Amino acid sequence: MPDIINLLPENIANQIAAGEVIQRPASAVKELLENAIDAGATEIKLIVNDAGKSLIQVIDNGKGMSETDARMCFERHATSKISNIDDLFHIKTMGFRGEALASIAGVSQVELKTRKQGEPIGTYIEIDNSVVRTQKPVACPEGTNISMKNLFFTVPARRNFLKSDSRELKHIIEEFTRIALAFPDIFFSLTSNGQEVFHLQPGPLKQRIINILGNSYQSKLVSVKEQTDYINILGFVGKPETAKKTRGDQYFFVNNRFIKSAYLNHAVVNAFAEMIPKDTFPMYVLFIDIDPSRLDINVHPTKQEIKFEDEKVIYAFVNSAVRHALAQFSVTPSLDFELDADVQKQEAISGPFTPEQRASAMSGSLYHTFAKGNQAHFIESRSNLEQLDILYGRREPAVETSQPLSSELHSGPELKPAKPVNEDWIQIANKYILVQMQGGFWLIDQQHAHERVLYERIESALKDNPIAVQKSLFPEVLELSPADAALLGELQNDLFLLGYMIEPFGANSYVIHGTPADVLKGNEKNAIEELLEEFKHFNLSPDYSEREKLMRAMARRQCIKSGTKLTDKEIHTLVEDLFACKVMNTNPGGKPVFLEFGYSDIEKMFGR
Ligand code: ADP
Ligand code: MG
Repeated sequence: MPDIINLLPENIANQIAAGEVIQRPASAVKELLENAIDAGATEIKLIVNDAGKSLIQVIDNGKGMSETDARMCFERHATSKISNIDDLFHIKTMGFRGEALASIAGVSQVELKTRKQGEPIGTYIEIDNSVVRTQKPVACPEGTNISMKNLFFTVPARRNFLKSDSRELKHIIEEFTRIALAFPDIFFSLTSNGQEVFHLQPGPLKQRIINILGNSYQSKLVSVKEQTDYINILGFVGKPETAKKTRGDQYFFVNNRFIKSAYLNHAVVNAFAEMIPKDTFPMYVLFIDIDPSRLDINVHPTKQEIKFEDEKVIYAFVNSAVRHALAQFSVTPSLDFELDADVQKQEAISGPFTPEQRASAMSGSLYHTFAKGNQAHFIESRSNLEQLDILYGRREPAVETSQPLSSELHSGPELKPAKPVNEDWIQIANKYILVQMQGGFWLIDQQHAHERVLYERIESALKDNPIAVQKSLFPEVLELSPADAALLGELQNDLFLLGYMIEPFGANSYVIHGTPADVLKGNEKNAIEELLEEFKHFNLSPDYSEREKLMRAMARRQCIKSGTKLTDKEIHTLVEDLFACKVMNTNPGGKPVFLEFGYSDIEKMFGR
């Protein structure tokens, strides 16, 4: 009987291993970009053709490679980044397993031009299916220029497995985005089929976010920043009004590495609580820094999952940091600053903290921010302090839960909609309405509340619920300046959905054929003129779509103003309409609709 065990030839071994590291063009993009970053580049250009299927090229101005290193880097387990097992626990670079280039060379045709900084001449290497075809000196700039052509040309089965160009390009853009967000100090560009898709100058993170995710986030970002000796968080969340119907702009980085974590995502989304409609997703770009030895480092280089040693503490920290940020920017009207109820109930929340960690956490700024109570919550709530005690292990929580937190992660917690406890609602100072709630009362700002109600009604009218036109018996003629006439012409169609029937009537004039039922007779002209004025006010914010401006202008113009005495019936309608809104915390401009007063806070003020 002959022996049957063979050693696989190197190129086959590389092809097999490549399957793990390089699944699609985007994985190669990620590896090559990370290598450029590890090389200390300040300028990185990515070029792809046919969604990376025919070409992926990365040009960097990093430290480059010597002739020997250039040859070595394609060997399996060739890495300059770790030399012993201890190094694994202190990794500061993106790559460390020395597999990427070997894998890439096994599944494509590679051309490398590289010149080590300070060396007079560079090296050119051509590799085909793990075999070196050419190696020679070459004149080239300092840094590395690597191209991989015809990905998977040796593995047709994998090649056929690739998706359409548009899908693969989308994956590439995703990887590019994650890396470009994490390194705003580095210049990046992405060119696809000869067209430059991104051209990102180095600058502050905020600028990078806007350049990548779009101008609509201009002046819509809330800064998140908390530091302790144990963990830092830094970055931005979008104001509630930027929440989108699709999950898209959500990025978490741990030690500058993009990760996916349903758990941390929940911590952020939960901090937005009722500020955003249920089926929308808030934007965030958040960076967590934590001692790498507190992470389960057994992370596969292509995997984006991560395990923290102290998951619950991290959850509480992220959740609080985002709440704090939102509160400070007064996008949340709540006076209360409590950890999420789910977190409060975790008996283990203090578990992982050793006395030293506790001491260091208590000296950190997060602790002090909490303990002082910040400006946005001028009533310091006792429960905050209790929660802090629990968080930092000084007190046993009162309630324990038998249900693990993670069981709720998939559905998300049911946010119980707040409800008044009775209908004894009173107007105060012709401005506010007092409503008794469970455990306290709300002071509702009548103008902000009505603006919110109208805004949502207008939104729904424009979407699929047009408001009926009440035809006028004696149509009025409205004469306008040329600019206003042009403006009204643009709004004409949307205005019709909102119950205004107007038609052009010669140069710069319109006939008002009808208005919504609630516009007083004889007041039609005024109503439209005022609306145009409001609209022009919103014209100063170029971020809004025309429709959004119209919605805001309309709500602002029509809402009951502060100082108006309301009848009992009006109070009732307003409160009921408000509680039926999708978003009730803020008016369309982001100002609070109500303030929340807890009896326990009030009792404390009375010294009970
Ligand atoms: P790893 O990044 O895990 O070390 P790679 O296979 O990606 O493994 O790269 C192997 C080695 O080649 C790296 O450790 C590095 O020394 C070198 N290298 C790769 N890309 C570059 C680059 N763009 N500039 C300089 N050196 C590089
Ligand atoms: Mg690498």
